Amino acid sequence: MKKCQFCGHQNPLQEARCPECGQYYSKIIESIEHIAAEEAFNTWHARAQRIMHARNKKHAFQEEWRYFFNALTTQAKLTLLTILLFVFALMVIVV
Ligand SMILES: [Zn+2]
Repeated sequence: MKKCQFCGHQNPLQEARCPECGQYYSKIIESIEHIAAEEAFNTWHARAQRIMHARNKKHAFQEEWRYFFNALTTQAKLTLLTILLFVFALMVIVV
């Protein structure tokens, strides 16, 4: 039996959060669930799903791309730029 420290609701189930007010019983579990939700949000599958279900797909794609690019570190951006330049140079040589 868990007792909610926010609303006092008694929960006989082993749940992470109170079914009455939605507050977490433990700060650690709350953090873990937030991290898991964030990671689930940032997977390529989740990105693709959001783009596919958006009404304006082009706009959704641009938003996802901007979000992805902003999350990258400077080093990651430079690496990505180097790869793109390399691919571009390769195409120029071949074509
Ligand atoms: Zn509660």
